[in-house]
Amino acid sequence: MVENGRINRRTGRGGMDRKASLRILPSVERVLEDERIASRINIISRRGITRIVRDTIESYREGIVNGEIEAGDDAALILESVAGAAAGKIGSLVSDRQRRVINATGVILHTNLGRAVLDSATASAVLTAASGYTDLEMDIESGTRKSRSRRVTALLRAITGCGGALAVNNNAAAVLLAVDTFARDGAVAVSRGELVEIGGSFRLPEILARAAGRVIEIGTTNRTHIGDYERAIDEGATLLLKVHTSNYKVVGYTDEVSIAELAELGRKRDIPVMYDQGSGILYPVESEGFAGEESIFPVLDTGIDIISFSADKVLGGPQAGILLGDAQLVGRMRDNHMSRALRIDKMTLAGLEQVLVHYWNGETDRIPALRMMLEDHESQLARTRDAAKRLGASVPDGFGIEVVEGETSIGGGSFPINPLRTVLLQINLTSGGPQRLERELRGLDPPVLARVRGDSVFVDLRTVPADEEKILIEILAAAMKNVKEKE
Ligand SMILES: *Cc1c(COP(=O)(O)O)cnc(C)c1O
Repeated sequence: MVENGRINRRTGRGGMDRKASLRILPSVERVLEDERIASRINIISRRGITRIVRDTIESYREGIVNGEIEAGDDAALILESVAGAAAGKIGSLVSDRQRRVINATGVILHTNLGRAVLDSATASAVLTAASGYTDLEMDIESGTRKSRSRRVTALLRAITGCGGALAVNNNAAAVLLAVDTFARDGAVAVSRGELVEIGGSFRLPEILARAAGRVIEIGTTNRTHIGDYERAIDEGATLLLKVHTSNYKVVGYTDEVSIAELAELGRKRDIPVMYDQGSGILYPVESEGFAGEESIFPVLDTGIDIISFSADKVLGGPQAGILLGDAQLVGRMRDNHMSRALRIDKMTLAGLEQVLVHYWNGETDRIPALRMMLEDHESQLARTRDAAKRLGASVPDGFGIEVVEGETSIGGGSFPINPLRTVLLQINLTSGGPQRLERELRGLDPPVLARVRGDSVFVDLRTVPADEEKILIEILAAAMKNVKEKE
């Protein structure tokens, strides 16, 4: 309960009179007079600070009542402890901000670390849109109102050759909008094997239940046949949905209906077919040896009606969800009033415009997510060996480093099944406890996120940009030194 106070849980002086402690708990007014708190009060913060102080006193009261806190009978000490705890909470409102971290996990689209990293041109486009007025919804030449999404739509259509394109808040919103548009007054058919949860917060069954008039679950976890979809249409399905299961795979006795078969069935029965592809690969990765994974282009070649994916996964842009496909169907989604609630802001649009311009110009080497994914083995090996050499002299006794081969995943719910071959800097601790080093790395500034496996800590340079290598090496050296000193 009480984190920052000097009074701790169960300090050991058993049998203290709880009623006495409760009686001498300070009043809100008294705590507000504490200099650390009074100095934070201004015209905006007064209400919130009063709330924090009241809550802090209340949590002490609860702690005393249920025996978690033994506060004693020294009123001054309790006041100091309560005020210290409240001041700590108030201070962290300012100090606890998003900050830069070094991602040495090798997981490129780490959702907890913010997924795709933007290139400098894209980041600067975002800043321009954020810091001044823009012609977001105006045609400057004629002075007339224009759609805010016109540039992104035009670029997506140009890059993909699709008739319709629409960008919304994220891919979850894209799925929601599609299901709301085509199955709200009908039903959506989806295979039981594809009712997935991705990234802890995207639960497809929940979204479908919310948006669709009815959900027709078909097939079994491991097998779904085209006949199952046909029966679903007979039962009233108005949308056939296929989902890239991204982060899991059923192996063994399995069967699923291909996108091409499904698209064919949709055409025959005049029912829209949608594929939630997830990772949004606008680059022909097939040619780069990503066995079993594919870009959106072969999917579009099947003639599928709608495809959706995230813009901040492999595409390498800011957070958004992209819907592509048949012009008339995408138009119906755009005209759905719900799209207004799911629309993206001008900063995201500016970033997305710039990333798509990179694709259109063939400048895919400028997109960090793609560059990290496609970095060749030789270059990674050379970078890692170089880092090991530079670290060499700073490796204390009791530690050993070596360059090894390993695997990583692209992350973001994409491709975890087909791991990426990678090069790792392996740090061995002769006295065990690699968690100590991993924790130390997280505690330094900037924090370094690394992986622990067995008795070693692994650092993957794949996700570390060249201009962060120097500081990474300094942090690695400092962390090993600190662990050694704490032994
Ligand atoms: C990642 C993912 C989602 C969720 O996308 P968000 O952009 O995070 O909302 C949905 N479906 C699939 C298949 C995914 O891979």
